[in-house]
Amino acid sequence: MANQNVASSSEMKLGNGCVTISMNKLQRLNEIHNIGGGGGGDGDGRTGTGTRMSSWVESMRASSPPRSNNKTITTTNNNNNNNNPASVSQTQNHNQNSWIASHPSALTMLEEIKNASKGKQIVMFLDYDGTLSPIVEDPDRAFMSDKMRFAVKTVARYFPTAIVSGRCRDKVYDFVKLPELYYAGSHGMDIKGPTKITKQKKIKNAVMYQPAAEFSPMIDEVYTILVEETKSIPGVRVEHNKFCLSVHFRCVDENNWDALADQVKVVLTEYPKLKLTQGRKVLEIRPTIKWDKGKALEFLLESLGYPNANQVLPLYIGDDQTDEDAFKVLRDRGQGFGILVSKFPKETNATYSLQEPSEVKDFLRELAKWKRVFMRRDGR
Ligand SMILES: [Mg+2]
Repeated sequence: MANQNVASSSEMKLGNGCVTISMNKLQRLNEIHNIGGGGGGDGDGRTGTGTRMSSWVESMRASSPPRSNNKTITTTNNNNNNNNPASVSQTQNHNQNSWIASHPSALTMLEEIKNASKGKQIVMFLDYDGTLSPIVEDPDRAFMSDKMRFAVKTVARYFPTAIVSGRCRDKVYDFVKLPELYYAGSHGMDIKGPTKITKQKKIKNAVMYQPAAEFSPMIDEVYTILVEETKSIPGVRVEHNKFCLSVHFRCVDENNWDALADQVKVVLTEYPKLKLTQGRKVLEIRPTIKWDKGKALEFLLESLGYPNANQVLPLYIGDDQTDEDAFKVLRDRGQGFGILVSKFPKETNATYSLQEPSEVKDFLRELAKWKRVFMRRDGR
């Protein structure tokens, strides 16, 4: 990654955690903003055209529960009954049923999962927000319940377990508080192994990998600019996740979503080494390196000593667009199962589904219970 152009040090001063942006840069951003109002072209497709930004905002609206008319998968029923509420409801039920048929509940497929794990080591990968914790207005208060923590702790007793999150690793650790787990923060760009040895024989302590470390000063700089440039929009929250940033739309009036997305895009035009992706009521800013939750999953499997598909059954549970990278890895490798947490039909590479975090908790409990009984019976 020696060829990556990190912003020159003359443009910023790092000290006591603060970043000072040159007046020239802020002025340039203001000029772009005043002239273009978000219409500045990117030329490389990374930060997206105006059309793409608005489609992201539309997609965010569609995937942001609760919405009774959520239709993430477009209906194919184009007849003249579209304005008839009964007909629309019927179509939605049909879509829901056919989606569940093609992505059955992991709770009802437990026997199949158990059978598939025969002679293999299950390795558990868990997203955090919307998977172990509810989606809440204030991202700093996305606490997991004690019951969920106990379920994760129990499952980690039997299977190597990793939390894979877009959050800063330290922050997600503060939420989960289980030292026996692997943590992959910043969308997998900040990986650390357990700080407490468990009974898992193959766990190697001290795994540490940060493929985007050199982007840290650039991320600090963009964080400072984004906070400044978006402060006029009520409710906006920019979260610093160490090697990536999140711009939260959760508390922003929907009428301001387009303006906020445009603001973010304008700032990113100055940083071609960063890219934007969209999640649930959030825009994520990440280095353009080829690293995502799927790569983190592969790295962790390798670190755990399971490069061979015959020895391991990875299970990945997540609710967000960024989790699709991990689902796709599992699908492409023909290995393990991706489990999407969603109440609504969505395009996904996952095999199974769970409706909400409480079902994730039930699934983890059932899996641990089965393993406990199995091991007792085996006299282990
Ligand atoms: Mg999530």
